[in-house]
Amino acid sequence: MRRALCPFATAATALLLASCSPMLPERSAPVRYPAAPSRTEAPLVGALVDQPVGGGTRGAVIRESADLQQCMAQLTAARVTFRPVPDRSTTETCGLASGGVLGPDLGTTARMAPGDVEMTCRTALALSVWRRQSLEPAAREILGSEVVQIDHMGAYACRNVNNGGVSNRISAHSQAAALDFAGVRLRDGRRITVSTGWAGDEAEARFLRRIRDDACRIFGTTLSPDYNAVHADHLHLEATDTRFCR
Ligand SMILES: [Zn+2]
Repeated sequence: MRRALCPFATAATALLLASCSPMLPERSAPVRYPAAPSRTEAPLVGALVDQPVGGGTRGAVIRESADLQQCMAQLTAARVTFRPVPDRSTTETCGLASGGVLGPDLGTTARMAPGDVEMTCRTALALSVWRRQSLEPAAREILGSEVVQIDHMGAYACRNVNNGGVSNRISAHSQAAALDFAGVRLRDGRRITVSTGWAGDEAEARFLRRIRDDACRIFGTTLSPDYNAVHADHLHLEATDTRFCR
């Protein structure tokens, strides 16, 4: 086993969790993937997105995103595109603060689909670490191909937690503090999805568990098909100061 999971998971914390249901993604027309970027540029040193995932990653994400300007500086230093948007309050419990639109990581080739996503800067920073330090290297190592597209189900949704029953708890999606990840497209044409890959062939399942396990060290709350049936087709990646992984 690569590492122990959920050291702090208890039934009590489970009750405090935000969980989610997918917002159905729009199916877009086939896209032409850009060529791999030049690797001749000198690597940037010091940006969190460039650091391998370790025991301190989650704390560093929280710390480096405590201030919007600092968070944006981290993304800029790592050549991750992020366009800030004004704070807004949609309802008493829904809205977005210190947020923006996460675009491509210019250090890699993967693109978000069905499009770039509006989220908190903290979520954008955590996702940027995850896609550069986990998702993309894990695909190369385990699947032998490069991620060209990251399929997601969105970040913002003004609603309560969907845990398969009735809940009065507010979902982290109400503040765009979580992204639902559905799968990836690879350069060799393969499509890997949480819904079929979790119980799929050995390599796909290993890849998905690797990126889930890594997410647990980057995000506050990570929920997978191992958690409940509501998450059978996606990973819920939530960058809040909660602590839960399953
Ligand atoms: Zn979710």
